[in-house]
Amino acid sequence: MMTYVKEILVGFWSLLAGMAVTIRYFTKPIVTVQYPREKIQMSPAYRGYPQLILDPETQTHRCIACEMCSRICPSQLIAVEGAKFPGEKQKRGVKYVHEHYYCSLCGLCIEVCPTTALEYSAEYRLAGYRREDAVIDHLILLQQRQKAAGVPITPVPTAEEIAAAAAAEAAAKEAREKEAKAKAAAAKKPAPAEEVKE
Ligand code: SF4
Ligand code: SF4
Repeated sequence: MMTYVKEILVGFWSLLAGMAVTIRYFTKPIVTVQYPREKIQMSPAYRGYPQLILDPETQTHRCIACEMCSRICPSQLIAVEGAKFPGEKQKRGVKYVHEHYYCSLCGLCIEVCPTTALEYSAEYRLAGYRREDAVIDHLILLQQRQKAAGVPITPVPTAEEIAAAAAAEAAAKEAREKEAKAKAAAAKKPAPAEEVKE
């Protein structure tokens, strides 16, 4: 009988303790969010996958396809391609793909970039059902961010446009080399001897 009464008292006490915790937190601000309907504001120190910065001045990316990030990446998970288009002074990235499932978020790619084109994203929704879900095409991602920001969308060049740009660049390079050779040959040519007057 005493055991029975003791169990009732212990149960009642644990009920009161539980209610005390509930009452204590009842008036405090809510810290939980209705995921996935609500989006979480991440801390500035949070490291999501590295992504291309949307330059506030040019409204596009700053990647010049130097490939330093892909060369330094310890997991070799970045694929970059660039092309120089007629009228442009330097190459620009036309492909930037990142296989996030191998990324250790070491930040070497961000540190080495000569144009500070990369930053950590604030993305935390990284779960996927397939391996391909973690393969990020950063130029497509940039377009989505440009669309969300209401700024002009940077077109991703087609394979034909890239091939035409490469052919135009090769032709321009050949013309420059020919011109340089012609100048060098003209500089080497001896000056005509002066006529001897009688
Ligand atoms: S953070 Fe490190 S592992 Fe991830 S892509 Fe950059 S260099 Fe590679
Ligand atoms: S290091 Fe910077 S500029 Fe060079 S390819 Fe990578 S992101 Fe582009």
